[in-house]
Amino acid sequence: MELPIAYFGDTILRKKAKPVEAVDDELRKFVEDMFETMDKNDGAGLAAVQVHRDMRLFISRIDTWNRDGTVNLGTPLVFINPVLTDPSPEMIAMEEGCLSLPGIRGMVLRPAEVTVEATDLNGNRFKERYTGIQARCCMHENDHINGVLMIDRFSPRERKMVDAKLRLIKKKKR
Ligand SMILES: [Zn+2]
Repeated sequence: MELPIAYFGDTILRKKAKPVEAVDDELRKFVEDMFETMDKNDGAGLAAVQVHRDMRLFISRIDTWNRDGTVNLGTPLVFINPVLTDPSPEMIAMEEGCLSLPGIRGMVLRPAEVTVEATDLNGNRFKERYTGIQARCCMHENDHINGVLMIDRFSPRERKMVDAKLRLIKKKKR
């Protein structure tokens, strides 16, 4: 079931989300719905707060495209109660988008690598070092569960450029 997305202006996007208490069938069904919602909206990552659920949980699936236009589906990953550590000193600027901020894209400077420790859908804790787009995605989504949006990390100039668009989203989507 596709879930309704929380857009910029919705107060849940500014809350520090609560830890997930139990990994059970209800949660697994919710995560399934999250993947469906992410796919239908062409996203690479989605946090639970973006579909109105106050929990520390996000998902990702980084797909890649071949030259002939066909898609290689990435591995679906689930991060429950994630903790990010050891960001690399090397920082990279990359363009980001966000399903809660339709039509807005901008450059965000973030560490190139990060370690993520989280619980999976079987309730097991795992730890992994990520680079590239996967690292980027984890940092963007982890921001969501702390009430932070990518526009908070835009340069003042870039932030000003999207001001009018943000006001429109706030007006239209409620
Ligand atoms: Zn986002």
